[in-house]
Amino acid sequence: MTTAEGALTSDIDIPDEAADNIFITSLDKIYNWSRKNSLWPMGFGLACCAIEMICTAASRYDLARFGMEVFRATPRQADLMIVSGTVTKKMIPTIVRLYNQMPEPRYVLSMGACANGGGPFKEGYNVLDGVDKLIPVDVYVPGCPPTPQALIYGLITLQEKIDKQSIRTVPWYRKEDPTEYVPIPVLGPDLVDLRQIDIIRREAEKSRIDEAHPESEEAAIPEASNA
Ligand code: SF4
Repeated sequence: MTTAEGALTSDIDIPDEAADNIFITSLDKIYNWSRKNSLWPMGFGLACCAIEMICTAASRYDLARFGMEVFRATPRQADLMIVSGTVTKKMIPTIVRLYNQMPEPRYVLSMGACANGGGPFKEGYNVLDGVDKLIPVDVYVPGCPPTPQALIYGLITLQEKIDKQSIRTVPWYRKEDPTEYVPIPVLGPDLVDLRQIDIIRREAEKSRIDEAHPESEEAAIPEASNA
């Protein structure tokens, strides 16, 4: 039972001499406490922000204080993806595949201006303007690059978010279609979107015919101008 202030109470009659020795909690609290203090990040970085992430794990900032020092070399053993660096379009399939290989519950922290929105390379032909176009992001850490302190603040924010979750509402225990929250990558407008493949084939065939018979096009122009 919970009071209006959120404190847990109990109907059980507790003797006075034992009152200080009994701790009342909920399954959600224990579940969240254990998860938030043992997040295992995946050991991968994309650009300069990764250097800041690496030194956050080293002795001076010491991620071990948060139970996060175990950077895993495989997504199958990680529950936190720190996207640290510029997301190029060439890297999109790899990032999405790594995310899909992580077991639930899993979280994503977007680190730095590049991962948040493209950063200084936003207008670049090869850079994605934000990793949240592909995978759901839980926490954004601004900066170019963010300092280790900023990353730690982002991680503490993530811990607070986890602490507010409830087993009854988290997506990974729901019975609905899981593809609802599994990302399907959409490539940029200058790359091929395979879902439009029929239209692309039709247009490619039309241009091929136009190139092979330019006279038919030329013949069509005077007609059009006469009209
Ligand atoms: S945000 Fe700045 S430091 Fe981080 S990857 Fe982009 S350019 Fe490098």
